[in-house]
Amino acid sequence: MNKPVVIIGAGLSGLRAASLLAAKGIKCQVLEARDRVGGRVLSRSDPARPDLGTFDLGPTWFWPQYERSITSLVHELNVKTFAQYTKGAMLSERFAGRVPERFMLSESAVETSMRIEGGMQSLIEAVADTIPPGIVELNTHVTAVRLDEAGAVTVEAEGADGQMKTVSAGAVILALPPRVAARHLAFSPSLPTEMIADLLSKPAWMAGQAKVVAVYDRPFWRESGLSGFAASWVGPLQEIHDASPQTGAGALFGFFGMPAETRRDLGEEQVLKLASEQLSRLFGTPAENMQALLYKDWATDAETAVEEDLEPLRDFPVYGRPPASDVWKKKLLFAGTEADAQSGGHLEGALLAAEQAVFEVTRKKEEKR
Ligand SMILES: Cc1cc2nc3c(=O)[nH]c(=O)nc-3n(C[C@H](O)[C@H](O)[C@H](O)COP(=O)(O)OP(=O)(O)OC[C@H]3O[C@@H](n4cnc5c(N)ncnc54)[C@H](O)[C@@H]3O)c2cc1C
Repeated sequence: MNKPVVIIGAGLSGLRAASLLAAKGIKCQVLEARDRVGGRVLSRSDPARPDLGTFDLGPTWFWPQYERSITSLVHELNVKTFAQYTKGAMLSERFAGRVPERFMLSESAVETSMRIEGGMQSLIEAVADTIPPGIVELNTHVTAVRLDEAGAVTVEAEGADGQMKTVSAGAVILALPPRVAARHLAFSPSLPTEMIADLLSKPAWMAGQAKVVAVYDRPFWRESGLSGFAASWVGPLQEIHDASPQTGAGALFGFFGMPAETRRDLGEEQVLKLASEQLSRLFGTPAENMQALLYKDWATDAETAVEEDLEPLRDFPVYGRPPASDVWKKKLLFAGTEADAQSGGHLEGALLAAEQAVFEVTRKKEEKR
């Protein structure tokens, strides 16, 4: 019987690979450790105030001016978009104890970034809807990938009930963060040393980051001519942006300048207290009137980050496909955004890497004929 292509990981990349394979009539199965699809894409509402809207705790934007794949996918799937709110002045907090400075950025300095109605999760749902039922298996934590001498591949995984299961695969697409694959999956035979070193050299983009979203009854900062964008050298938030839905509630989200290790040592309550105080410092007393506060620290999430990701990144990592392995080359393919040399790190990279992995699967099938 024709064995399925097993895709490990149901983030955007794994889902897109499954969708493309299914459309070509190629049997596939997606094994996902979490109890949800989307991976680093995570859109949440406050359970006590779902009326306020849904907010992104993972990716928020795509950039149509450079990102061809995501732009055409969004159109193809009829996912509704709107432009990031950027009108008005930005705030700059350079020194502790000083009033933040207010600047007007020139129009050419503000890049057009697009958001998705209902949060980035709407794109994930739209892609997942293109995959026939029964292909994506949640709560299935892959632990090992084995290749025997006859060339048969077996994937081992642990289910939510703690039971181990095995799946025979025609080929395997790794669509999970490279460091997570290198640290948490056992390969037999072992991956070549240079391939492991390459995987470990590629931090999952934003794995060391955390995101906080403060939700208000309206985007009050716009009334005083502020865009919601702020840069801070004081912290704990380094960069703040307007995260409001198109109508109704207002929201500000922030990325942290505070390193992952410091966040871990301080604990969530203290981190959120410091972030809330900073928002009040920057945006004034109305910022104290928060309706909800959402937080996600990706550095503590074992499906995204490994211990090395606690270390802050100094430069943008070099992404792309790992060096080929003679033993594994016909059976192991790489998707996931970090496998894309051009747009690695972004959602666009996740799509391009999925397209490339599917192209390789198709080519191998044609070579066999
Ligand atoms: C805070 C934050 C902000 C970001 N902002 C942006 C942005 O604005 N724009 C942008 O383009 N990009 C942004 N990114 C990056 C973007 O989220 C990623 O490029 C994209 O989501 C990666 O998709 P992926 O499918 O390659 O990987 P992932 O989404 O990481 O998916 C990998 C999947 O593998 C699963 N998995 C892990 N281990 C196992 C296992 N052992 N067995 C089975 N499954 C496993 C995981 O659970 C996960 O579902 C941001 C990321 C973060 C964290």
